[in-house]
Amino acid sequence: MELSGQKIIVVGAGVGGLAAALAFRQRGADVTVLEQAEAITEVGAGLQISPNGGMVLQALGLADDLAQRSVKAETVQLRDYRRGTPVVALDLASHAADQTYLFVHRADLIDVLALAVRKAGVHVRLLQKVDQVAPGRVPAVSLANGAQMQADLIVGADGLHSKARVALNGEAEPQFTGQVAWRATVPNDLELGPHAQVFMAPRRHLVCYPLRGGDLVNIVAVQERAAWVAEGWNHQDDPEALREVFRDFGGQAKHLLDRVDQVHLWGLFRHPVAEHWHGDGLAILGDAAHPTLPFLAQGANLAFEDAWTLVDSLVQAGSQAEGLELYQSRRRDRAVRVIEAANGNAWKYHLSFPPLRFAAHTAMRVIGRFAPEKMVRQFDWLYRHDVTDQRSSSTQTGT
Ligand SMILES: Cc1cc2nc3c(=O)[nH]c(=O)nc-3n(C[C@H](O)[C@H](O)[C@H](O)COP(=O)(O)OP(=O)(O)OC[C@H]3O[C@@H](n4cnc5c(N)ncnc54)[C@H](O)[C@@H]3O)c2cc1C
Repeated sequence: MELSGQKIIVVGAGVGGLAAALAFRQRGADVTVLEQAEAITEVGAGLQISPNGGMVLQALGLADDLAQRSVKAETVQLRDYRRGTPVVALDLASHAADQTYLFVHRADLIDVLALAVRKAGVHVRLLQKVDQVAPGRVPAVSLANGAQMQADLIVGADGLHSKARVALNGEAEPQFTGQVAWRATVPNDLELGPHAQVFMAPRRHLVCYPLRGGDLVNIVAVQERAAWVAEGWNHQDDPEALREVFRDFGGQAKHLLDRVDQVHLWGLFRHPVAEHWHGDGLAILGDAAHPTLPFLAQGANLAFEDAWTLVDSLVQAGSQAEGLELYQSRRRDRAVRVIEAANGNAWKYHLSFPPLRFAAHTAMRVIGRFAPEKMVRQFDWLYRHDVTDQRSSSTQTGT
């Protein structure tokens, strides 16, 4: 269908909403983004952009701007927590040289997206909290200030606590996963190179990688625990609480933890993938459709894939209803597969029974030594999935 002149409202100016807004605008649609916050900002932390998400940003014309603000990853290194002894490394530079993995500060990514949408002529309206989303022949949103707005299509990119998702699927109770995570950034005074490092310990792990030309190091530290922490992003915590939980970590991990002077803590919850991703004149994408645990660094990457596929499906279809149907059929199985893979990663990092831990680490060392390419190739289904490839776009589903 022709998108030129279609009136699109995108709810939420996160990474998924801005990418969708830009993709619609590039097809000539009249796009308005409604964001509840007073500014388009992001918390001070890092994101890994894997090739599958990077290909969307490239197709949107953002690759150069993003490259200037990112660190290009060379390896992913799994290490033991006590002294940081290497267990195995995925050599991306040698075995995936045709692909680009980036480490980027969230604020920089949002900045690149926000500048591009404004330049393209998208109307971005801040301090616009959407209270209700109503699908229908003339879909509409109701705002907290009492106003109502109508469009040809509403896109719910409103994140974890999405109103649009509720309109399509009703309320769903998230389940606490028994895991909490801290996030912090610290100066890179160890001069860590372009590597993601995962320090694995019984019931805990810590991931770090450099940001901003290597000036900062991003830290995500995960612990299994029974106690519940309210779901969300911005629960400030005491750095001493973090250090106490990871006090037996040695080597570089200890040094990084010693440098933390500000940290946020949040609880990790599992949400079901939404059954319905669209209704009359309404579609959802990103965390609104499928909140993802951070153990495979895919939430934002999936949101980019969704944004591109939504617009492409509408363009390919004869009608909006057909396009929305095609969008869900191309996306849902893939999202489920990625989310299940992410769920499975935490326990691999957190093995605590010593013989099992020893056996798993030995197996990883053996594969890493004798079949290093195999370590990288096992993720081909994830990272080589190119939703922007026109040759396969009409048939791509969850592969
Ligand atoms: C610790 C951690 C590390 C992560 N690391 C990675 C990583 O390395 N790589 C990766 O790909 N992903 C990562 N993710 C996941 C990723 O951050 C999310 O999946 C991604 O931000 C989702 O994007 P989104 O646009 O769907 O939602 P969000 O980014 O949450 O944006 C939603 C937007 O909607 C707005 N909004 C919400 N409700 C309303 C309303 N009612 N009215 C108006 N506006 C509203 C919000 O203010 C917000 O701006 C990580 C997540 C966590 C927690």
